[in-house]
Amino acid sequence: MENTCIWPHKDYIDVNQLTPELANYLMDLAEQFRQVNNRQVKKVPTLRGRSVVLFFSEDSTRTRTSFDMAGKRLSCDTFALGKSGSSLNKGESLKDTALTLQAMNPDVIVIRHSSSGAPKFLADRLGCSIINAGDGWHGHPTQALLDLFTLRRRWNGEFKDKELLIVGDIAHSRVARSNVDLLTMMGVKVHIFGPSTLMPAGVETWPVTVHKKFKEALEGKDAIMCLRLQQERMRGGLLPDLSEYSNTFCLTPELLRLAKPGCLVMHPGPIMRGMDLSAEIADSVESTILEQVNAGVATRMALLMALCTRNGQEISE
Ligand code: ASP
Repeated sequence: MENTCIWPHKDYIDVNQLTPELANYLMDLAEQFRQVNNRQVKKVPTLRGRSVVLFFSEDSTRTRTSFDMAGKRLSCDTFALGKSGSSLNKGESLKDTALTLQAMNPDVIVIRHSSSGAPKFLADRLGCSIINAGDGWHGHPTQALLDLFTLRRRWNGEFKDKELLIVGDIAHSRVARSNVDLLTMMGVKVHIFGPSTLMPAGVETWPVTVHKKFKEALEGKDAIMCLRLQQERMRGGLLPDLSEYSNTFCLTPELLRLAKPGCLVMHPGPIMRGMDLSAEIADSVESTILEQVNAGVATRMALLMALCTRNGQEISE
């Protein structure tokens, strides 16, 4: 595999570090790794001898597993640390835990944390690369990369004039924030719809169209991204009743028919069947949910490689 790395950053904290050129560079690299992942032997020696720490102080299924798999398929050693197994539970500060980890010379620390800004805090203080695997409500920049990769494949690389609707709990969604910024930068027109109590403060400054009616919001859409209600981040009183929520905001086959024929249905997971989208839609051919999971491994391989080989080094297999 030949690749000249154009990636300039020590860390990947926010999608605003990307340009269309850098995003396409990562997408092209991820496409090569997708092919590696389809082989019987899914491993390349590219990052042999590198160490990656997976520091997840919030729950995760997809992101943690796919970073672990991505590292191992590049021949890195990966080490997982969670809040419950770490000294954070004994009162050690995030900075001291991170300095301790750095003293062991990892190349990359992948961090998920409930506080917005925690990855940036570490990136400013540590010499190793930091990847933001989700920080509070702020961002989930690797989710945005894998969503872009999924759409690029489904739309044959054409983003201009495409329209995507994000539905649900926008206020608490770091996925929505990262996707709005990255997809807009790539030329997609982004729309949002959800309960008025779950619209983010300052939404009028976002580069999106905000809808008040689901049926209108669906018209002419090429893709719909459903989101989960992030109840763990909600203060009381934002939603009167969950069944009323699902009656209004759950994507059903009848509603989906109002979008463009062949409209894709995305979801970052975990999905709540019957709440965010109907089971029928989750299992339909329009659903890209498992493709997104699949894309997560290849895009995270691309990112790990970019960070570990930055500054124009040549890598060849
Ligand atoms: N998995 C995504 C996240 O970590 C979405 C979700 O949890 O609803 O933000």
